[in-house]
Amino acid sequence: MNYEQTIRLMLERGFILPSSEIYPDALAGFWDYGPLGVALKNRYIEVWRRYLVRRDGMIEIDGCQIMPRSVFVASGHLEGFEDPVVSCTKCNLTLRADRLIQEKTGKIVPERLPNEELDALIASNNIVCPSCGAKLGSVRRFNMMFKVSVGPSGDEAYLRPETCQSIFVDFPRLFKVMRCKLPVAFAQYGKSFRNEISPRQSLMRLREFYQAEIEVFFNPEKANEFEKFEEVKSEVLRLVMKGEEVEELTAAEAFEKGYIPNKLIAYYLAILQQFYRYVGLNIKRTRFRKLSEDEKAFYATSAFDFEVETSLGWVELVACNHRGDYDLSGHAKVSKKNMMVLDGDKDVLPNVFELSMGVDRSIYAIIEHSLTVEGERTVMRLKPYLAPIQVGIFPLVTKDGLPEVAKQIYSKLRLSFDAFYDESGSIGRRYRRMDEIGTPICITVDYQTLQDNTVTIRDRDTMAQERVKISELEQILHQRIYSYPLNS
Ligand SMILES: [Zn+2]
Repeated sequence: MNYEQTIRLMLERGFILPSSEIYPDALAGFWDYGPLGVALKNRYIEVWRRYLVRRDGMIEIDGCQIMPRSVFVASGHLEGFEDPVVSCTKCNLTLRADRLIQEKTGKIVPERLPNEELDALIASNNIVCPSCGAKLGSVRRFNMMFKVSVGPSGDEAYLRPETCQSIFVDFPRLFKVMRCKLPVAFAQYGKSFRNEISPRQSLMRLREFYQAEIEVFFNPEKANEFEKFEEVKSEVLRLVMKGEEVEELTAAEAFEKGYIPNKLIAYYLAILQQFYRYVGLNIKRTRFRKLSEDEKAFYATSAFDFEVETSLGWVELVACNHRGDYDLSGHAKVSKKNMMVLDGDKDVLPNVFELSMGVDRSIYAIIEHSLTVEGERTVMRLKPYLAPIQVGIFPLVTKDGLPEVAKQIYSKLRLSFDAFYDESGSIGRRYRRMDEIGTPICITVDYQTLQDNTVTIRDRDTMAQERVKISELEQILHQRIYSYPLNS
């Protein structure tokens, strides 16, 4: 299914909805999650906790979204978190300058080109306002942070543009009280805010969005003394070092060839890819793309984007940045606090490797990769442990006591599972409504139920049906729904 069809299904079935849509001044770039979206997102985060946070022994925090000015002086966002924009001299339409030039010329334009060079490109390609055709003004920089004022004195503060700043400022205290040793990873799932110039494509570019970020603190001299690397060294990574060509090689080979700078980074790229396999992305449609000097974020010393192929083209899901000691030295300088920690008998300023995950985009990509149309059946082949509705419960007909029995089963199962009771329409239609939102199991109460206390269980993927005892339902559902990988 393409982007439009996927989003239509998500809107019609209550995964997402435009925020404040009843008002004409509703803002672009803000979307709410409906009930199915919330459930899917929560389960996605559970898989993130399971295979990244808990598996690796990470420290999870939940930081504040509003942070004082000093944080962003130290982080460089006040100065560096800017996009080039250009406005029409007549109608005042304002656009991202690099994207506009890219669209008009078909050539890649790095956003970090100086304003003058962007001006020159606009002039030499005769680019005018796409809306009214008038002349464009000069390129200027627009800071993408949302400024807020705190308290009656109006203290200057900002909504965080990335969750990781909380991790950096909390690092010294938590390292001590949690008795950490290097290397150690901190994780956080939460909201970030960016005043995007042109938000678009719903979940793909939002102004208020969810990130799940992991910051690995390590001693740069010991990045290759990393035993956990052995666990993943044969994981085959799909790397794009230049251009478009994907090279498949194991984590060990990628490290030996110098494609990945150290074993620690190779390990985290490998477990990230495993995570995305577990949430159901087709890994053959993903890649780690090494970023060129022009493309990297202002704080990164080397960077890969983990990208997924969708009907919109290749989309970045996770920025994998080697941030060096940029953040801790920045905060040490501005706060005048010591950010060094003891490693063995030496004080070191840790380096940071980051996995910065866009949650909303990931959810979109999982849904798009899971949706298939098979004849008149649309099926969302979600992993059972991700399904928002885990079990549908139906009486075959609405008479002869069948609804009463089905409702009894429903009230018991809904304490343990996200269950849905449905008695309207033909049984075939009820199955299809569940297929469309990824419900892995449907239970049907029929006339035989009244005689022997059995029901049928119908499997979403094979459509096979089997009879089981009502008394065994709970156990069977547990086994099939929570069928996590690596479970013994
Ligand atoms: Zn114009």
